[in-house]
Amino acid sequence: MRFKKGVNFQGISPELILGLFVANEVYALYGVNMTVTSLLDSKHSRTSLHYSGNGADLRTRDLKAKADADKIAKEIKLRLGIHFDVIVESTHMHMEYQPHIS
Ligand SMILES: [Zn+2]
Repeated sequence: MRFKKGVNFQGISPELILGLFVANEVYALYGVNMTVTSLLDSKHSRTSLHYSGNGADLRTRDLKAKADADKIAKEIKLRLGIHFDVIVESTHMHMEYQPHIS
């Protein structure tokens, strides 16, 4: 796992840390060393979970095939369960921890 220069991980939640390690394992299956491009830094939508340390952006441009992003997102989600969402955006993959209380 690597971090883009300037990524601020001070204050990320323990749940997100676990999620990042799982995501890194899945990226490795596709032959890529995962790069985290944003955590508590950068600008995000007003209500974004990035600001509470529960959102991460992962680089997708270094994947070997474009279709890998969807496969990786699906596998991460499968491993982490219902409290995580993984969304493939045009420039990156967004992952967030949001507990669903039922
Ligand atoms: Zn994001």
